Amino acid sequence: MKRTLLILLLSLIGITGYADEKQNVILISLDGFRWDYPDRGISPTLSMIEDEGATAASLEPVFPSKTFPNHLSLVTGMYPENHGILLNYFRNPHTREVYRLGDSVSVRSSKWYQGEAIWETAERQNVIAASYFWPGSELPDAHRRPTYRELYDHNRPYEKRVEGVINWLKLPEEKRPRFITLYFHETDSKGHRYGPNSAEVDTAIALVDSLIGMLIKGLKEINQFEKTNIIIVSDHGMTDVHTDRVVNIETILSGFKCEYTTAGTLLMIKPHPGEAADIYNVLKKNERHYKVSYKEDLPAYYHFSKHPYILPIVVEAELGWSVVDNRAERRLMRFPGPGGAHGYDSHNLEMHGLFYAIGPAFKKGYRTGTVRAIDVYPLMCKILGIYPRQNIDGRLERISAVLK
Ligand SMILES: [Zn+2]
Repeated sequence: MKRTLLILLLSLIGITGYADEKQNVILISLDGFRWDYPDRGISPTLSMIEDEGATAASLEPVFPSKTFPNHLSLVTGMYPENHGILLNYFRNPHTREVYRLGDSVSVRSSKWYQGEAIWETAERQNVIAASYFWPGSELPDAHRRPTYRELYDHNRPYEKRVEGVINWLKLPEEKRPRFITLYFHETDSKGHRYGPNSAEVDTAIALVDSLIGMLIKGLKEINQFEKTNIIIVSDHGMTDVHTDRVVNIETILSGFKCEYTTAGTLLMIKPHPGEAADIYNVLKKNERHYKVSYKEDLPAYYHFSKHPYILPIVVEAELGWSVVDNRAERRLMRFPGPGGAHGYDSHNLEMHGLFYAIGPAFKKGYRTGTVRAIDVYPLMCKILGIYPRQNIDGRLERISAVLK
């Protein structure tokens, strides 16, 4: 009996890993930063991390490779069909309520969020958490929010965000957060407007790189660098699109009255009762530069079928193309010409993001293959010395090679 207890205790110590050292984790999201942007040779801080930390060839996002689904997968270790944030814009088809990025009422409404974010996991285990912007961090419920957080302000200067993180780490130890998120949108905004190969994206890469440099300098000045792990990720990559490459699905289905949820790269259809097969057949017959599927027939690795808010028919655009309804087409045509987009099949390398990490928990000068967004949550739990939630999709063993 005593022996069993001892083994149990030892295994617990094994699970909690670095708990005694009380290391910090700062999770930085560089929105839309494609995996290969560091190859452009304009990001000296990231180059330093390649030498001093652990990096992955790329980070595979979850499907759809959109901002909100992926930010939630990064902090919950779950696929969108399980954490509930399916797209940046979607609807509860039963009540017709809308969840929409940029709408502070819906993004702060806890009913949409079915996953447990790492700040909830951490705080329940007495690790203080903070968020300088992250989708899902703005819930009003005391047990679902980090102790410290800033409500999203797109125009908040980037330097202020870095200062905010440093100020949290200056707090006395009993009030100081050990888990912090930080978010920069620059590479995504410029990627959409000008395309991933533009001079504007190059400027954005250099800018966000300098902000990470500023953060590291600040951490050194307050003697927190040695005990802090910085994990730099992005939610997805970016590919070239053009308003010459658009398929209007509503035009193809002009005889039908159905409801559309559009995301540019992806369009979901709720048919009127009894019309699903006809709609599917018409779309199948006209299938060019898109793919139509019943949601249950989507590839299994998408993990995009179980949630009740996923509509019955899903149309996916071919890489570089857009699928739209009339309203989305009008919106798209306000900026005719080339641009950038993401949201396609996550197996497309152009949709892959970044994974760069540095700190006492990580190997030095180590490079691994592609890692997955859903595995970042159990990785961070391991470093913080907390138990991850049980029923997640992420697996520590797929990513733990980056750890010392
Ligand atoms: Zn994004």
